[in-house]
Amino acid sequence: VTCLNDMYFFPEQTAQVVIETGVRATVGVPVLEFPSTFAKGADDYIAKTEAFILKWRDDSHAKHQGRLGFAIAPHAPYTVSDDSFQKSHALAVKYDVPMHVHVHETADEVEYSAKGKAGPARHQSQHLLRPIANFKRMGVLDRHLIAVHVANATKEDIRDLQEGGASVVHCPNSNLQLVSGLCPVGRMLDAGVNVALGTDSTASNDSLDMFGELKLAAALGKMVRGDSRSLTVAAALEMATINGARAIGLGAEIGSLEAGKSADFIAVRTNVPEMQPIFSIERQLVYSA
Ligand SMILES: [Zn+2]
Repeated sequence: VTCLNDMYFFPEQTAQVVIETGVRATVGVPVLEFPSTFAKGADDYIAKTEAFILKWRDDSHAKHQGRLGFAIAPHAPYTVSDDSFQKSHALAVKYDVPMHVHVHETADEVEYSAKGKAGPARHQSQHLLRPIANFKRMGVLDRHLIAVHVANATKEDIRDLQEGGASVVHCPNSNLQLVSGLCPVGRMLDAGVNVALGTDSTASNDSLDMFGELKLAAALGKMVRGDSRSLTVAAALEMATINGARAIGLGAEIGSLEAGKSADFIAVRTNVPEMQPIFSIERQLVYSA
């Protein structure tokens, strides 16, 4: 892994590790309505996000080859109010950084929100809308939005994501382990949505192995689409590379090896039994590595 997109408490520590290790990262500062040891409430989380960006922004470019990027990460519709989503989005626009949200993860989250049924997954908004439709209503569904999961999506949700220019991060292992739902990756890609690949956190996935997610996404995508020819190895590799770069706004700098881009790459050992014989290096990377 050359680049990661994180969201968690104490981003200062994450930033420090990014600088020390040489990896590239977009460090998202979480926003929640409730207090934690990190912040007192939504406005405090948002203020801390802005302070974090201002503190590290110029420093990172001068001294760390621009490897450190930033995001504001209002956690999810059931933990963040409409007001805080709008304030978070305003900050994302002000600093031109992504807004990283975990959304449409479970069927309950979507259904309870749309029908106004009481339950822990219901969104905090008073509007009887699916959370993605509510994002559109609030004007926060645009190219800044990184919508993680979207394991429950209708044709309308997919259209809204495409029209807004948002990115989706598919986390197949987490979705399966938590029985969240099946992200219609094939239909999203066909509709022109930028879909990248993620692991979710160790709270929902025992392994943060991107090769494991890659293999699972490629196989599961075929099952969900009902077509063994869909989600080609090329499409799967794009989800793991260039689409992730696009999601964090770095599509012109990283994500593919091209003249003028940064040479961020990994090396994969092929002289091991599980990688042999090689008929297609792309297939081996997706299904065997
Ligand atoms: Zn998640």
